[in-house]
Amino acid sequence: DRLISPRADSSEARVDHAIRPRRLADYIGQPRVREQLGIFIEAARQRSDALDHTLIFGPPGLGKTTLANIIATEMGGELTSTSGPVLEKAGDLAALLTSLNEGDVLFIDEIHRLSAHIEEVLYPAMEDFQLDIMIGEGPAARSIKIDLPRFTLVGATTRAGLLTSPLRDRFGIVQRLEFYAVDDLSQIVSRSARLLDMDSDAPGALEIARRARGTPRIANRLLRRVRDVAQVKGDGRLTAGIADTALNMLHVDRLGLDHMDRRLLLTMIEKFDGGPVGVESLAAAISEERDTIEDVLEPYLIQQGFMLRTPRGRMVTRLAYEHFEIAVPSQAPD
Ligand code: ADP
Repeated sequence: DRLISPRADSSEARVDHAIRPRRLADYIGQPRVREQLGIFIEAARQRSDALDHTLIFGPPGLGKTTLANIIATEMGGELTSTSGPVLEKAGDLAALLTSLNEGDVLFIDEIHRLSAHIEEVLYPAMEDFQLDIMIGEGPAARSIKIDLPRFTLVGATTRAGLLTSPLRDRFGIVQRLEFYAVDDLSQIVSRSARLLDMDSDAPGALEIARRARGTPRIANRLLRRVRDVAQVKGDGRLTAGIADTALNMLHVDRLGLDHMDRRLLLTMIEKFDGGPVGVESLAAAISEERDTIEDVLEPYLIQQGFMLRTPRGRMVTRLAYEHFEIAVPSQAPD
């Protein structure tokens, strides 16, 4: 229910479909990724070969699925999607792999959550385009080899460190997505507004961009909520005034922090004297999963300089005290 959750919400699929960029040229921001992938795709196309297996990592909502789709489109192949936790049986993976054609893309989201026996099936498929599976049981069991078409595996994960090294080593291309700059998010908001038939001005798009936590999915979601307010309380146009009114009403503050961020930072300040505090203690204190803290809450707070990860634990910075207008203790780090 978190308005600023970077994770997909199932009700968003339809709108998402309308605004998701389809070509690399429409993918805004991430200049390094765009440039490198552009070259690798062009080179593979010239050789009439499949693109090397590609691992994309970065926090949720930054455009990993979008890139997988773009790779398939640019390579002229079809995309088949699945995810680590969904692939339980070797047979499920075999069925997906054998249905691919030359140049297709198999996208595995949350690839760090594949079970060990599925990873084993994946290794020869990635390396030699061969499937090595056992059929039957007991004395009648035998292994069969099936040749696969040259396909591209695109894996997505929130943190590269979560992958086993044999799996990571089998990706020829590894790309890391960074939080987006405000200017890039502003362009994303303007583009989405246009595709949603909403009139917008630059300051309006900028106001949403500033509060979108560096994340396109959040920017698009905030845009939709602002659109509702603009429609009912304004003249339907996205302006800075209407964006500010709407986002204040939705308790997304001027830096994009919401009640969960405030709770995390204030718990560190009030219960742990600003830290250092271990992530497990913090998770217990705010009744959240450790993963939620590590994947969802802290990446943005660290990137914005509100907290630090030190060998002794998490600490809040001077900036966090200042944001909450709390007297800054002398030991608070910058
Ligand atoms: P992830 O797979 O990393 O969680 P997605 O690829 O699903 O993220 O992207 C979330 C949303 O953000 C999509 O609706 C997409 O339209 C939008 N988006 C992501 N990256 C970009 C980008 N570079 N330019 C424009 N829109 C983007």
